[in-house]
Parts: sequence; C-alpha cells; structure tokens
Amino acid sequence: MAMTPEETLKKRWGYDSFKPLQKEAVEAALTGRDCLVVLPTGGGKSLCYQLPAAMGKGLVLVVSPLIALMDDQVAAAREAGLAADALHSNLKSGPKREAYRNLASGRTELLYASPERLLVGDLAGELAARAVLIAVDEAHCVSHWGHEFRPEYRRLAEAMERVPKAARMALTATATPAVQEDIRVQLALREPAVFVGHPDRPNLIYRAFPRRDQFKQALEIVRRHSGEGGIVYAQTRKDVERLAAGLKEAGVSCAPYHAGLAAQERRKAQEDFVGERLDVIVATIAFGMGIDRSNVRCVVHANTPRSVEHYQQESGRAGRDGLPAECVLFFAASDLAAHRYLAKKDLLSPERERAVERQLREIGRYAVAPVCRHSLLAAHFGAPYPPVKSGSAAAPVPAGNSVKEAGAGGYPQPEEARGCGACDVCLGETKGLPEEEARLTAKKALSAAWRTEGRFGTGYIVKLLLGKEDERITRYGHDKLQVFGLLKDAGEAAVRSWIDQLIVQDFLEIVDDRLYPLLRITAAGRALCRDEGSVRLGVPVPPRAGAKSKKKVKKAGRTLAAVLRTEDEELFERLRTLRRSIADKAGIPPYVIFHDSVLIEMAASKPQTLYHLRVIKGIGEHKLEKYGRLFLDVIAGESPAVG
Ligand code: ADP
Ligand code: MG
Repeated sequence: MAMTPEETLKKRWGYDSFKPLQKEAVEAALTGRDCLVVLPTGGGKSLCYQLPAAMGKGLVLVVSPLIALMDDQVAAAREAGLAADALHSNLKSGPKREAYRNLASGRTELLYASPERLLVGDLAGELAARAVLIAVDEAHCVSHWGHEFRPEYRRLAEAMERVPKAARMALTATATPAVQEDIRVQLALREPAVFVGHPDRPNLIYRAFPRRDQFKQALEIVRRHSGEGGIVYAQTRKDVERLAAGLKEAGVSCAPYHAGLAAQERRKAQEDFVGERLDVIVATIAFGMGIDRSNVRCVVHANTPRSVEHYQQESGRAGRDGLPAECVLFFAASDLAAHRYLAKKDLLSPERERAVERQLREIGRYAVAPVCRHSLLAAHFGAPYPPVKSGSAAAPVPAGNSVKEAGAGGYPQPEEARGCGACDVCLGETKGLPEEEARLTAKKALSAAWRTEGRFGTGYIVKLLLGKEDERITRYGHDKLQVFGLLKDAGEAAVRSWIDQLIVQDFLEIVDDRLYPLLRITAAGRALCRDEGSVRLGVPVPPRAGAKSKKKVKKAGRTLAAVLRTEDEELFERLRTLRRSIADKAGIPPYVIFHDSVLIEMAASKPQTLYHLRVIKGIGEHKLEKYGRLFLDVIAGESPAVG
C-alpha cells in the first residue's frame, strides 16, 4: 500500500502537482542522496523534506535557525497530518515532554531542532538509527558571503557526522555561486545533486521610484492595500518610529518593530501581524526572517536596502501564497552614503569593504535604471529573463509575455524587456529617456558639477540647474554661469533623481569633505561630456499623463479586487473571520489553516459539499476532516462565521 510521492502530495496537502524541482528534491531524499536546493521564497522548500517524512520511510530531522518560526512550521506540518515536533530552548515544559515522549515511542515523523539544540548532548547520535534525512533550512546562514551568518551553522557538519546513513538536504533561497559553494563545503555535502530554481517571482510587481516624501509615498502604497498585510522597511529606528506614528494617525492598523524595542513588545507585534490582528509592520531589517505570513500583499522600502540580496530577501516576503503582491522601493542616493558610513564604522577588511561598495552600486543601479526590474533581478542572480522553459527548472513565464531572451552580458535592452507587465518600467510608470536626450540631459547636469569644481553639495547643484534665486549662488557669481537654469523646465524632482542616477552610474561621486558631502564629477563623467561612453536616464511618468497606466496601477494595486467579484469579496471576508477565530483558539497563525488562495476559491466557487470542497487546491484530507464542515456552513450562510 505504498503511495507514490504524487499520491502523498494530493492526500496530505491537496495539491495536484509539484512546483518546479520539488519532485527532484523529494526523489533525491528518498534514494538517500545528498542535495542542495535553491528555490526562491515561496518556492515550496518545506515540502521537499516534509513529503519524505509523510511517506513513512523514517524520521526526518530539520535544522532551522529561527525558533519563533519553528513553532509555526510544526503547526503547519501537523495541519497536513504529520506527526511533527520541535526541540529548542524556548519550549515550555509540556510540549517538551510530549516531544520527547513522541520520540521515545517512535511516533515522530518530522522533528525540527534549532542548531544549538542539535549541538548540545548527543541528539544526533540518539536519532542515528532512525533518521533517514537531515534537512538544513536557511542553509545560507553557514556562509560569510550570505547576509545572516550564524556561527553555530559551521558546526552542523560535525553533528551530522554522527548520522552517517541519513541523506543531507540543504535549502536556501540565496543563489549566488559563492554561497552555494560555501554551503556544499561547510555542510560536507557528499557529491550532492544540485537543484537551482529560477529566482524570478512572477506574482510580484516590482516598482522603484525616486524618493521625494518618504511618508506620503509609503502611505499611498499602504492605502492601496487597506485591510491587507504589508511591511514597510526603513533604515533607522527613528524613521521607523516616525513612519509608524504617521501611519497610525492616518488610520492604518500598524506597529513599529526594531531592535531598540523591548523583546516583549517585539514579540507582540510579530504575533499580532502573523495572527492577522495587525495589518502593517513598520520595521528595520531586524524584522522578517521569522515571518512566514503568506498573504503579505505589499512590501515597501522607504529606504534603499544594503544590497540586491537583501532586497530580494526582504521584498520576497510578499506574496508567498503565489497571489499578486507588490514591492516598492523608494530610492535616494543619500541612503547609500548612510550604508557606506555604517560599513566604515564596522572596520571591515579592505576586501569586505570593496564587496560592500560593489553591493551598494548594484542596488543603486537596480533602483534607478529604467529597465525591466524582473529582468534586472534575474540578471543579478545570473538567470535569463524571461525564464527559459526547459524541464521543470523554469518558473512560469508571466502571461502576455512576448519577450526575447536577455542578451548575453550587461543589462537586457529596454525593448526586449517591455513585456514583464509587472514592474514600473514595463507598466509605463517609469520611462527611459531616448538615448540622445539622456546624453544631453546628463551633460547638462555634469557640467554644473564640473563648473563648480566639486566644491558644493547636491542641494546647491540642483538649485543651480533649476536657476533658483539663492544668496550663495549670487555671492559666488554662479548665476552668471551658462549652466544656471539649464534644467529649469524639468522640475526639482527629476533633477534630483537624475543626479542620483548619475551617481549610481559613476559619472558623479559624493566625496566626504570634513564638513559636507560634496558632489564631484568623475573621470567617466568628464569623458561622457566629450561624448565618450553611454548613459541611461529615467523619469517617473506622472499618473495623470496616461489614463491607461493609471488604470493599470489600480489594477496592479488592490489585489483581491482583481481576483474576486464584489459580492464574493464579502463572503471572502466572512471566511477570513472564521479562519481567524479558529486560529486564535488554537494559538496558530491563520495561514497555517488555509491560504488566502483557498478562501478565494471557496468564495468564488461556493462548494456545497465536502466532496466539492475537496476539489480546491490546498485542502488535504486532514484539513478537510477538521475544518470542512465549518467552512461549508459559512458558505451556505448558516453560520455567523465567528464560533
Ligand atoms: P519557501 O520555504 O520556499 O519559501 P514554503 O515551503 O513556505 O516556501 O511554501 C510556500 C507556499 O507554497 C506554501 O504556502 C505551500 O503551501 C505552497 N506549496 C508548496 N508546494 C506546493 C505545490 N506543490 N503546489 C501548490 N502550492 C505549494
Ligand atoms: Mg522556508
């Protein structure tokens, strides 16, 4: 009566098919082969090790760095009908006793453990006879090159030595080759099969705009998703506090989160957010790794993150459930200077310092290049865009895509990238200037920095280019210069953004004087003035300019409206209320019970019977039995939803 992986997938999770590379990973585990699995957030990595556990071949041990997340993962696995437990230092005595009892009686199928727990005593040795697989989740934590290095991870290989018969599976969303190599070596993977998925997240809409008014811009996005989950990232605690206070005043259900808050307060904010008692978290990067809430509909970066990897990771927390979600980055070159300053304070080695510099440049280029953002992110991780459909390794290509493969090396051309239909550039909200116009505009801006000999800051140069009356400009006689007022017609927002864009492309640089940061033209900038080299400049298109793009923004904004009819949305809200009340009582996150996608399908198709309910993707047997009736009653209008 052995079941195939497909049958198990259907019975336990209610899914008809595997996501890309899941099956390959499962098969490696079942045949006892080590493997490395690199799949983007939301790619379904947990299933790669949970499914082997469900097939009853032996115990699966999962090492995961985040205790906060572990309990939610155990809850989710139990909802699929698995005998799952966790062992970590924060466990209360009751669950701890139960976990050990289950282990002793041989009932446990899936055991989560923190790296610390695995390294004290000889847990590994005790499990050696039974464990068939050891999965190391968030495996990039083993690497210095990654962004969340954890020293304990370096000792995992030692512990795994004691379970020589178990296959090893390392999982991460971070795909750079250096990190992959580190994982392989540090975790002592033995001739592993390597499964690298395409990093693209087709359900995410990426937008990057110059920052003008941090609060107003953040509020606009959050408002578009009222009643939905969102995360707003800011750089400093002060910004977090200010933005959170402002949003609250504007009526947004939100809380701040940063390392300066009491642990108690942080935990409450996180639990309320995951439990859907709170819509928006405003946070520094201290927030996130422990967050698996699957229906986050927007991630706003009110400041520029430190690197493209950070951006991918943080923005990736949107839309884990595969439904549309949007990620917006508000860029200012001054953010990069702030990151640089902090990195300097850390007294890094020259090699690390150069790496930081490179990372800042890359995230800057991502934020200002008027080029399809999906293709820029894919290029950063060395993947073609759109994904080539070859075997199961490729992510689905977004609908309506008529795009050729990106050219080898460098950025794909804007014409080629036109079709993602899911970023500000392809939606026509940001426009690249034609080549000649870009060059001419750049030369104007550069000549202002040149003429003033790098002795002034950005603000001064902007005023000069706009032809503003200014006491200092007059005093230095710069109002007599030819560059005075040269970009008057463009407006301040565009001129500021162009200067940022020129900095990011290395035509201008900010040099730290003892008193002020000064704007200076670089050698490349002087060359461009002689028509050597090429430049790209973009401008945000004001929403009013094209009625068409405005409609698109709206559609791409509110997510549910696009999926559900208004009358069904009301039912969806009642189903959501039921889900929340069940979750509250059980002390587990709502998404663990059913994803939004399941509730949406219920609301749209209104099944009358358990049989019909079962057809919906994401309802396994265990959940059907446990919750089916409750949800059917709400659909039939026979229950007020709140139990
Ligand atoms: P990751 O750890 O890679 O970020 P998760 O394991 O949390 O991703 O899974 C992301 C989501 O995808 C979960 O909601 C999960 O239920 C869903 N999922 C996993 N496998 C499948 C599948 N084969 N079909 C549909 N949905 C899936
Ligand atoms: Mg995961």
